[in-house]
Amino acid sequence: MDLSSKIKLNNGVEIPVLGLGTYQSEEGEVAYNAVKFAIEEAGYTHIDTAAAYHNERSIGRAIKDSGIKREDIFITTKLWNEEQRKDNQYQAFGESLERLGVDYVDLYLIHWPVKEKYADSWKILEKIYKEGRARAVGVSNFNIRHLEDIAKVSDLMPAVNQCECHPWLTQVELADYTQKKGIIFEPWSPFGVGQLLSDDNLKAIAAKYNKSNAQLILKWGLQRGFINIPKSSNEARIKENTQIFDFTVTDDDMAEIFKLNMNKRTGADPETFTF
Ligand code: NDP
Repeated sequence: MDLSSKIKLNNGVEIPVLGLGTYQSEEGEVAYNAVKFAIEEAGYTHIDTAAAYHNERSIGRAIKDSGIKREDIFITTKLWNEEQRKDNQYQAFGESLERLGVDYVDLYLIHWPVKEKYADSWKILEKIYKEGRARAVGVSNFNIRHLEDIAKVSDLMPAVNQCECHPWLTQVELADYTQKKGIIFEPWSPFGVGQLLSDDNLKAIAAKYNKSNAQLILKWGLQRGFINIPKSSNEARIKENTQIFDFTVTDDDMAEIFKLNMNKRTGADPETFTF
């Protein structure tokens, strides 16, 4: 496996195993430069954004200017909560396409399971998928009960479930359920927005492989069958996060990392979020 490796989603579409996260990569120079560098210099072919990150325009521009063909880049974006509450899902998707400057995305996700709305939203993503404007559709921050609810209204399975997951929140039950259903699990905030990068237990394990905590965490995710989307807007760190294909974490060390679980979230809980 290397940076060009892809895995098949449940509809046959292939997703690159490593993508660039862009939450808090600000619209303008920061997001533009990070994405352009990631594609042109670091070999990324997969970018994760969302309407709520307010950087789709810069990302679309960077992809266009990169000189790599649109069809060789995998773009994910997401439907924001407010658009679900306003029953504006279908239009919101069109607005994301317009800001990105593309006529399809590779993956469109429901960002959060908004109460009393997410099943309706899923039906609209199904329509978008059938129109061919998203090559795959999926969800984010869905717990088992949310996945069960959408299975009641639709035969279309999500291709991906993107959720907070890292060594302090290992998500064993949710990831197992998701994977058994043929849905790819995609951890967000793999570094706990940076907090795990100074964890001494991880440092001790990472040192054995001459790797950083960031690289160890990404490899742990990869070996669990996950797609990683670490965020960086720093050139050296964008590159560092790709250097994960030249070592293997032993079963014993994988088990040591699982022991660090504290069910500790760094972001909101899908059962209690209010935004
Ligand atoms: P991450 O866990 O990816 O951490 C990002 C932070 O770590 C940034 O401060 C970054 O700083 C720093 N960093 C990155 N690489 C390194 C490195 N090698 N060494 C040291 N520091 C590093 O957090 P995110 O919350 O951004 O999560 C990743 C992505 O997941 C998001 O960008 C977004 O695309 C997605 N996401 C999805 C959510 C959802 O609800 N679906 C919620 C949250 C995130 P710097 O940029 O300066 O390198």
